[in-house]
This record gives sequence, structure tokens and C-alpha cells, in this order.
Amino acid sequence: MHIIHLASELAPIAKVGGLGDVTSGLSKALIREGAYVEVILPFYNTIEPQTLTALQQDITFATEIDERSIQVTVWSAHSGTLPIKLIACNADFFQRNTIYGEADDPLRFMAFTKMALDYLLHKKLSPNILNIHDWITALAAPLYDEIYKDLGVHIDTVVMTLHNMAYQGHSKTHTLSKVVPLPAARTIQHHLQDDHRPHHINLLKGGLLYAKRLTTVSPSYAEAIQGERGHGLGPLLRQKGTHFKGILNGIDTEYWNPVTDPLLVEKFPKNLQDIQQVRHAKTINKRALRTQLNLRESVAPLFCAITRLVKQKGPELIHAGIDYILQRGGQCVLIGSIAEEDVEQEFQNLANTYHNCPDVHFHFAFNEPLAHQVYASSDCLIMPSQFEPCGLAQMIAMRYGTLPIVTQVDGLKDTVFDSAQNGISISQANGYTFSPTTQYALQSTLDRVLHTFYHDHPLWERLMLNGLNHDWSWKQSAQTYLDFCQKT
Ligand code: ADP
Repeated sequence: MHIIHLASELAPIAKVGGLGDVTSGLSKALIREGAYVEVILPFYNTIEPQTLTALQQDITFATEIDERSIQVTVWSAHSGTLPIKLIACNADFFQRNTIYGEADDPLRFMAFTKMALDYLLHKKLSPNILNIHDWITALAAPLYDEIYKDLGVHIDTVVMTLHNMAYQGHSKTHTLSKVVPLPAARTIQHHLQDDHRPHHINLLKGGLLYAKRLTTVSPSYAEAIQGERGHGLGPLLRQKGTHFKGILNGIDTEYWNPVTDPLLVEKFPKNLQDIQQVRHAKTINKRALRTQLNLRESVAPLFCAITRLVKQKGPELIHAGIDYILQRGGQCVLIGSIAEEDVEQEFQNLANTYHNCPDVHFHFAFNEPLAHQVYASSDCLIMPSQFEPCGLAQMIAMRYGTLPIVTQVDGLKDTVFDSAQNGISISQANGYTFSPTTQYALQSTLDRVLHTFYHDHPLWERLMLNGLNHDWSWKQSAQTYLDFCQKT
């Protein structure tokens, strides 16, 4: 079984959020199931060659983009144990010091997708599965059907994974013609026509129409996006019937392993059932973190949020939560990568308000090592998302003995269970959930959290143990994925 992922992110070398974790975690799990897996991604200038092994030139060829002949070089390497292919070229697509957020993102990623299919053609590769991810590489499905199949590329099954339907890759129609030659461009344009804007195409729609199998990242999100959360593509998804499935994401439990994690000041004990030793390790990490971040020593609980600061993540509730936690005597650390300008402004203002406060720390950047130490040190993670296709931060938190406090939506409701909910027993409970998504509901949940933290140690430790010892790995989901993608 030969599986190729065509993606824009791969943890840890090119990661913005959960997509990077998924491409690496799922790939490693599929390798463990016996598959031969490769990940093809752009050779961003932010990828440091010294983090790779066996880096060598694989092939060079020319391709036409925007009426120019572009020289493409594909590099072969390993990221950890994972075989990867990195696509570089002599046009300025991947030398931007960033992965996303450029005005010409649709052109950059359409060009990348085309170069990847050219690569399959030149190398005469016939993978069993080509897995494309989100709008960014969605064009591969129509390109394969309309052009590359006839040129001799053979793929048994093109699988499209939907990580977030809020991003669909709307692009001007003429951008497509820069990448795709006629007459295929006309057919693809016709099928990908944006339903709401003339002279625009919707790249994600192309993946939905042409891919043989569609997956998304949790069962609840699979249901939600067939309706309003599909942002207009729900009816198309409903037509896919049994060719569409929600498969819950896992996490890479070797990488996210508090027992071996080299980024922790104090590793957790081998026996994660030994709650006293786990708490001891968390306390040592917390003390070190407080010193590092100039927070005062305290018996109060430490809350964290580790997130992209975008509207999806409920920034107004993160803000309100921080205010309330501090008012109730708790401490907070926020690691927020800035993605939306108005949200950035709101949090810069908040950071200014608490400038001299010894109980809160704001870190406005993507910082992987700090994230590990914060997951290990915190008592709780707040994740009040408006919607959350799956969410990995809550799973990582539980793996590190940190209780998640989440809105009861989509993937969060598939992974976090609150004993205050009807039908949830203490043996299943692993955190706190709230609904509706309001400030009041968050505050009353924080009251419950604080009460348990101070007055009900047995319950607190039970919740920690349930999260710490649950199997969050990809194993089960990788098997489901293989069954689903190979089904005739
Ligand atoms: P999304 O994919 O929507 O960003 P997820 O919860 O699925 O959200 O995945 C987020 C991943 O990115 C997690 O691994 C989380 O630890 C990481 N992450 C998010 N923001 C930051 C940040 N500012 N610094 C370090 N890691 C971050």
C-alpha cells in the first residue's frame, strides 16, 4: 500500500496548527500499519535543512506557470522517520518567511499542486492513495481526472480530507488559467464555479466533486458540515453518502509523550497511573515555568490557552475567561499566534492592561518548545471555540494531565466529557464542557472548576487519570482510514 499525502504543513518542520500534526501523526500511524507513506510539501525557506536527514536532490523538470517555464527541483529527505519530498522552484512561491497569509496564496498553492502531479508523472509513480488536504491541495483531484490520468499517472483512490470548511480557497478564475492549460482549464473552471461570486472558483468544491473518498476529522463535524457549517457545500457532501466519513483525529503519542518529552523541565513518571508522582512532576514544571515567565509562586491553579488567535477560537471568551480567572485569584498563560488583525489588537490591549500583573503572561507567537512546557505545567486548558472540526490542543492537554475546559461543539464534544452532563459517568469524565457559547456559561464552568480544584481532590485526580491514560493515538483511526479508503 503506497500512500502519498499532498499537504502544506508537516509537524514539526512546517507547522501552523493542527493540519501539521495530522499529516505527521497519521502518516506515522499508517507506516506502523504496514503502508509505505510519503509526504509531499513545498520547500519553504523556513524549513531548516539541518532538521532533515538524507536530504538529496531527486529530480528536476520544467513546468509552465503563468506563461513562464518554471524550473522545479524535488528534494528527497526524511523528517524524523518519515520520508518526505520537498518541492522547490525558481519562482518566488515558497520564499516568503511564512506558510500562509500572502495575497497570492491561491496561485502559490495551485502551482505547488500542479508541480506535485508533474512529479508523479515524471517519476512514473502509481500510489494506491493520494490524500489531499483542504482547499490548498484540492485542485489535485480535478487535475488528476482531467489531465494527468490521460498522461499516464495512475492513482487508485484520491482521498480528500476536510480539516476546516471555513476556508475554501476562493480564487479569481483567471488565476486557474495561469496554472492549468486549455482545454482542461475550461472544464475545471466550469465545475469549480463559485456559487456566489461570478468570475471566481472555489477550490475546495473541486476536491469534493472529484475525489473518490472524503474524510473529515471527527464524526460530529462530519454531521455538522452537511448542514450550515458546510458554508454552502453541505448539499454536495450529503450527495457523497457512504463515500464520506468522519474519522476522529489522533495525536502522535510518541512525540506528545510526557514520559519522554525532552522539552520538559521534569519528565512524568513511566507509570502514568501514579497520580502523586505525576502531580509532583507537574509541580516542578510549573515552578520552572513561573520563574521563566516571571509569574509569582502561588497555590492557585494555572490556566492556559495555546491557540491561533482567530474568531473560530472564541477570542472574546478567552479574553473574558482570563479576566475572570484573574479576578478569582488564578493564573493564566496565553500562547497565541496572531492570525487576524482585530483579534491581535484586542489581545495587545489586554496585555497592556495587565502589564504589571504577576499572574498572567502573554506570548504572541508560535512557540513549540514553550507550548510543551505549558501543557505539562498547567492545571487547565481553556478552549472556548465557536466551532472546532476536531481540535488537538485538548487531546494534547489531557495527555499531559491538564484538564480541558471546552465548548460543547463538534470534535470537542467527541473528545471531552464532563460528569455534570447527563449520562457521563465519573469513569468516562476527563474535563469540563459548556454550552451555550456564552461568557456566563464559561464563568459558571470556571466556578465549578475552581471548586473541584480546591475542595474535591479525588474528583480532580480521577479526571486527570482518565485523560492521562486514555489512548489518544492514531492507531484505531488509521485502521478505520485504511478500511474506508480501500472499500470498493
Ligand atoms: P487548529 O488546527 O485549528 O489550529 P488544533 O487544536 O487542531 O487547532 O491544533 C493546534 C495545534 O497547534 C496544536 O498542536 C497546538 O499545540 C498548536 N499551536 C497552536 N497555536 C500555537 C502557538 N501559538 N504556539 C505553539 N503551538 C501552537
